[in-house]
Amino acid sequence: MDTSHLISNYGPRPFQAVRGEGSYLYDSEGKRYLDFVSGIAVNALGHCHPKFVAALQKQAAELIHVSNLYGIPEQERLAGRLVERAGPGRVLFCNSGAESNEALIKLARLHGRRLSNGEEGKRFGVITAKNAFHGRTFGGMAATPQEKIQGGFRPMLDGFHYAELNNIESFAAQIDETVAAVFIESIQGEGGVYPADPGFLRELRALCTERKTLLMLDEVQCGIGRTGHFFAFDASGVKPDAIGMAKGLGGGYPIGAIWVAEPYADLFQPGSHGTTFGGAPLACAAAHAILDAIDGEQLLERVLKQSGPWHKALHQIVEKYPNHLTEVRGAGYMIGLGLKVDALQLTTAARAAGLLTVPAGPQTIRLLPPLNASTQELEESVEKLDKALQTFA
Ligand SMILES: *Cc1c(COP(=O)(O)O)cnc(C)c1O
Repeated sequence: MDTSHLISNYGPRPFQAVRGEGSYLYDSEGKRYLDFVSGIAVNALGHCHPKFVAALQKQAAELIHVSNLYGIPEQERLAGRLVERAGPGRVLFCNSGAESNEALIKLARLHGRRLSNGEEGKRFGVITAKNAFHGRTFGGMAATPQEKIQGGFRPMLDGFHYAELNNIESFAAQIDETVAAVFIESIQGEGGVYPADPGFLRELRALCTERKTLLMLDEVQCGIGRTGHFFAFDASGVKPDAIGMAKGLGGGYPIGAIWVAEPYADLFQPGSHGTTFGGAPLACAAAHAILDAIDGEQLLERVLKQSGPWHKALHQIVEKYPNHLTEVRGAGYMIGLGLKVDALQLTTAARAAGLLTVPAGPQTIRLLPPLNASTQELEESVEKLDKALQTFA
């Protein structure tokens, strides 16, 4: 490995990834890993799904990029497919999770200005949750109240306030006439896999409606089928005012999007936002292939059905290793195992046993299987975890 020309913003990497096939990733020495990181909840269909590859190849040979100066049929049709799932509203495309969140923060500001009869700078506050993660841009960092993210980059963007997830009083106490939006992850990912309770989400919905504050949900990690629902919040029955998406949407090809509910979709007007790459033909073709597979291979049903036995087996592992593991958190194929041991060390041990996992904070490891993982692969993940924990015991 020669990393001498790379900026060292990432820690040491354990191996060189050279090939992927389904749920398996191969390193440069030919070692095979069961990949339950999925590029951090990105590879919804695992590696190199034949139909996904064919869709990319076909589109690449037709049209790759044109900018948003011209109409893009794939983009318009993709927006329609997302509206079908999210409800009446409109969609704007970008290229990543952080960018989708930036667009949501801009939406909050436009909403605040409208509420203030066109006056800027009066109502621009955004309340996010402690322990959240919303990305590494200046908007994303301000929305992410964690020293390890914000440290070194202050001053932060103005107007952000932080409340306690699943504590409605804590949000109620902070939503005043300076606040334009509440912005939370339906399931906190990087912070350790902590779901927003369905009851809390419903109360938050009512509170936001009452105070004319937007409810914006970050579904960048938990959305696009990961929980067995298209959006993780679908399980609660709540309808947000805006949604941020990315990661799984392109199945490995970068694409992000926001959906904005109809009453707020006109806040963006020609010239108020834009991107060179967002919603390019190739990116949209990738997203279409993912949505096709979610529908065609009944992946939501499959994730829901297979989660039962998989979660049960994980609970049994937690019981078997009480000195190492504390609990199973999350939903569907977005699982966090609470630890009494160091997450990085357990990740290393799991890797040695042939299973890829990723820490979410110092005392949680995440399991993020592809949505099309087989029953056998899910069982194999538990066996390999068991093996890794034996080396700890
Ligand atoms: C990964 C993530 C982001 C940032 O996405 P990038 O594509 O890395 O910019 C934002 N929010 C959540 C919840 C995420 O998991």
